[in-house]
Amino acid sequence: MLAMTIEQLPDALVNQIAAGEVVERPASIVKELVENALDAGASRVLVEIEQGGVRRVRVRDNGIGIVRDELALALTRHATSKIRSSDDLMRVASMGFRGEALPSIASVSRLRLTSRARGVDTAWTVECDLDGTPSEPKPAAHDEGTTVEVADLFFNLPARRKFLRAERTEFDHVQQVVRRLALVRPDVAFDLVHNRKSVQRWSDVPDGLAAVRMREVLGPAFADNAFHVSHDLDGIRLSGWIAQPTFSRSQADLQYFYVNGRLVRDRLVSAAVKRAYSDVLYHGRHPAYALFLELDAERVDVNVHPAKSEVRFRDTRRVFDAIHRALTRALSALRPGDGDVVEAPGSPAAMLSAVAPDRADAETTAPLQSSFGLATVAARRPAVADQRAAYASLLRATDTGADHHADALPPLGLALAQIHGIYILAETADGVILVDMHAAHERVTYERLKQQYAAQGVRSQPLLVPVVVAVSEAEADVAESVAPTLSAVGLGVDRTGPQQLTVREVPVLLRRSPTEQMVRDVLSDIVETGDSDRVARDSDRVLSTMACHGSVRANRHLTRDEMNALLRDMETTPNSGQCNHGRPTWVRLGVSDLDHLFLRGQ
Ligand code: ADP
Ligand code: MG
Repeated sequence: MLAMTIEQLPDALVNQIAAGEVVERPASIVKELVENALDAGASRVLVEIEQGGVRRVRVRDNGIGIVRDELALALTRHATSKIRSSDDLMRVASMGFRGEALPSIASVSRLRLTSRARGVDTAWTVECDLDGTPSEPKPAAHDEGTTVEVADLFFNLPARRKFLRAERTEFDHVQQVVRRLALVRPDVAFDLVHNRKSVQRWSDVPDGLAAVRMREVLGPAFADNAFHVSHDLDGIRLSGWIAQPTFSRSQADLQYFYVNGRLVRDRLVSAAVKRAYSDVLYHGRHPAYALFLELDAERVDVNVHPAKSEVRFRDTRRVFDAIHRALTRALSALRPGDGDVVEAPGSPAAMLSAVAPDRADAETTAPLQSSFGLATVAARRPAVADQRAAYASLLRATDTGADHHADALPPLGLALAQIHGIYILAETADGVILVDMHAAHERVTYERLKQQYAAQGVRSQPLLVPVVVAVSEAEADVAESVAPTLSAVGLGVDRTGPQQLTVREVPVLLRRSPTEQMVRDVLSDIVETGDSDRVARDSDRVLSTMACHGSVRANRHLTRDEMNALLRDMETTPNSGQCNHGRPTWVRLGVSDLDHLFLRGQ
């Protein structure tokens, strides 16, 4: 053991230690500086980067600025204008509050801070010396607002510098940071410049047209497949966009979740979203979303993580429920025939892809109904040079477009034919649709089973001739022990021998299905799930398995009436745009798409 006296570390070293947590790479600097600009009320932020940010990061804003006498203070550790007391710490409303970013950054780079405070004639600048101590302020030329310039990152810490990656990679990180902030602040204009070339330029967007910024930041593919959600429960407000389940991704790379304007990674949040999608998403796929949660600042603790990328909710259960409920509702509100107000002009490939509706029902969207219709239209239009003119035409489009094709035909139209024993072709008011009859029927059956189960248990009916099923002894044991669960899902099963079960009752909805196979699969589900408690809680899974067996098989001939009945059922069934495994149940081709394919009128 080394014997050493205890000594207070010098400030410069303390700052470097703090920088270890806060400043990982140029992108972290950009995050802190842009957050400061936003806290200062800026409406324009210019981010200039050189060599991926390692050579230089410069962030300029038009916010309230800093007065001459506080310039040095801003660079001092634990100096902040954002909180004053521990009460304030319990309800932080700004992005920053730790008073650490500027001194930390100054301790590992060459930093210059220039600012002109609002209403003051002169701008002042301070520069930090090698150990981060600020110089005396000198007069400078600058408009109202602030510029922070950070050069030669880690010039004094060669070991950290070695961890920096290629210029391209570092710049990608910077770009990601700016995108994240731009997404949540459509009211602020952002400019991003790399090596003196403009890389991105986002103008500020008027109130209520956040969808325009969303499309710019997340791209047209997401925007075309996303629908707006808005939900308020117990003062927990959730809004934003979630993509159709059929627009799922192989990676969790299109997931943005903000809490009071702050992008966070949070296990609780991801779990709630995942749960909401679990019923409609193909196994192993990830949903895409940009969601904004707003709640009173007292209800969330932001003082959890040095880079402020995590939060702690004081009331986790409520938050979980609010998110889960909002999304489950929005997802199940996706019905055929809703939405589709404006046709997205697309390539034949895009036309043939699943275009399910993109509007949540009135209940879900009620608080934002007016801006929402607009947002939908905006989100489906390509970017237009003259924004103002575009907004005006969007307004007209929503005024007149809403109820255009509420013609005589129902939303999913009338069945014309069954094709290859698998698909139904139907004519709609403005085109044709193709339905995967098994997938669609499976969803309809599943949703009905769930409804019955939630109401008073799945309705069953006795079989005229009970079905005897030979099983293993282990399976017979399981069946015996979960008999109450089985009867809740409509299966009356008795053990009639060491290796024998007798099925006496089946769900009314499934009376024509192959009983033996269904019971076997349900049992193997239960064996896989483990204990019977979990089976009771995981009833959806069992119901989904049953629905799969209860649904029309390929090659079964359907009469025209049966086909139409299925279409009408789909129109009123939640989640009917996807089957239980998350595959689309129907696709459409509008007349305009057909014209396009045949090059008519071009
Ligand atoms: P924090 O943001 O946690 O307060 P910082 O070290 O990031 O800590 O900034 C210290 C202080 O400097 C802020 O509280 C703010 O008063 C001031 N400041 C920093 N950047 C700006 C800016 N762009 N415009 C106006 N004031 C700023
Ligand atoms: Mg800050």
